[in-house]
Amino acid sequence: MTIVDTVTELSARETDLLDRVPDGLFILGNWEAGTREPIEVQDPATGRVIKRIANATPEDGMRALDAAAAAADAWAATPPRVRGEILRRAFDLLQERREDFALLMTLEMGKPLAEANGEVTYGGEFLRWFSEEAVRISGRFGQSPEGTGTMVVTQRPVGPCFLITPWNFPLAMATRKIAPALAAGCTVVVKPAELTPLTTLFFAQLLADAGVPAGVVNVVQTSTARDVSSPIIADPRLRKLSFTGSTPVGRSLLAQAGQNVLRTSMELGGNAPFVVFEDADLDKAVDGAMLAKFRNIGQACTAANRFIVHEAVADEFARRVTERVQALRIGRGTEDGVTIGPLIDDRAVASMAALVEDAVSRGARVLTGGSAPEGDGYFFEPTVLVDVQPGSDILREEIFGPILAITTFSTEDEAVAAANDTEYGLIGYAFTQDLARGQRMIDRIDTGMMGLNTGLVSNAAAPFGGVKQSGLGREGGLEGIQEYLSTKYTLIPA
Ligand code: NAD
Repeated sequence: MTIVDTVTELSARETDLLDRVPDGLFILGNWEAGTREPIEVQDPATGRVIKRIANATPEDGMRALDAAAAAADAWAATPPRVRGEILRRAFDLLQERREDFALLMTLEMGKPLAEANGEVTYGGEFLRWFSEEAVRISGRFGQSPEGTGTMVVTQRPVGPCFLITPWNFPLAMATRKIAPALAAGCTVVVKPAELTPLTTLFFAQLLADAGVPAGVVNVVQTSTARDVSSPIIADPRLRKLSFTGSTPVGRSLLAQAGQNVLRTSMELGGNAPFVVFEDADLDKAVDGAMLAKFRNIGQACTAANRFIVHEAVADEFARRVTERVQALRIGRGTEDGVTIGPLIDDRAVASMAALVEDAVSRGARVLTGGSAPEGDGYFFEPTVLVDVQPGSDILREEIFGPILAITTFSTEDEAVAAANDTEYGLIGYAFTQDLARGQRMIDRIDTGMMGLNTGLVSNAAAPFGGVKQSGLGREGGLEGIQEYLSTKYTLIPA
């Protein structure tokens, strides 16, 4: 495993980009300076502060909701074609500004530049997809069964929405919510994660440049998420809460949303099983494992968490992934050839060390990695563990980091039982060349999504989301816009 020297100074290009990122709160089309201590945004590869930005108070949050409520009727009445064309313009502008967005994500979140570029592509596709969906919102009508009249079913925007996003995909988690909301005719208040707010601020400016009217999108980053969010959620003008983040926070938001019987979408944590059968194409399984485990430095809700490998191929699978892991290059994501960036903060590094220690104390063996390298930044070595024992924390918790933990099985039933032995149900992966067995895995693994012989499934045209404690609702695809529409039925007597 190579460690590439960490850069300590910002380059001229990076300084120029950071200077161009707005540092205010975005309310009713204006950039406002905050009134309290600013938020300090760090580069996780160096631990150094790269920008100070406004920090919303609960009053700022309420003014953002005022703006979204004031703009709601006019935006809902804006023709769908016009809404779609504005989103399409935003898609085009994002392509023009691609390099800036990619670099900004690498600076505030740490992912390697090539992956940040991939996120611009993925995140941008939600703008294009929902620009096309805006004009396809439709309803149905028909005669009532008794012949007493015509039944008309229409779809209306739900109204002002509150969108809360996590730090791990700073652009895509924002576009996956903002694009369908705007396409449906809803106005929004966005609260990005305090660790990575810069991408959302830069994106809010892009939306304004694309022609999104004042008040339709408002952004309130804050260091006190609960204090700012609670009054917004309690306000009867709010009609929808969409959250992406951890299951514990999702649970508490659902309880708050229950007070006003608010519509909610919850994209929560995962604990994905990655099952490799004895008949799998091992080259494909190893490629899939590298993607599903080490993309985004393992910090993805879709990251493979538990590798459940048939005992006949487990040693060979472990040998091959270890070889691949040892060829990874750790460093600041801006540097050539870096494939593993830093984790988001020091707590994440401590959590990786604790997971490895617990697994080893119960009998696991470390084939490679296992600790944090010396030096600045929040790095942790990509790690492979074998002989992981039942009861280990690493099998129960969402790892959210670059640790690949292998357990073994002998029968298909055992594999399915192990895969489903979690309260989460976001995604499962299965590798087999037997079509019938593949079909059985789709049926039997209890998740909202499935990767069959692939380690990457996300696509703007697909419904993304989970079952069990991984959440409620879907983002993307035909389903994604439904989350922002409510159904209205009218009887017109004959
Ligand atoms: P988090 O739950 O700590 O924070 C998510 C967001 O919620 C942030 O904006 C944070 O400021 C805000 N927040 C935290 N406490 C809050 C409160 N009491 N009230 C209102 N807002 C609050 O999660 P995170 O660490 O930013 O992200 C990682 C988690 O997100 C992982 O569990 C991951 O699986 C999950 N995730 C899920 C998906 C998905 O689509 N299912 C996608 C990406 C990430």
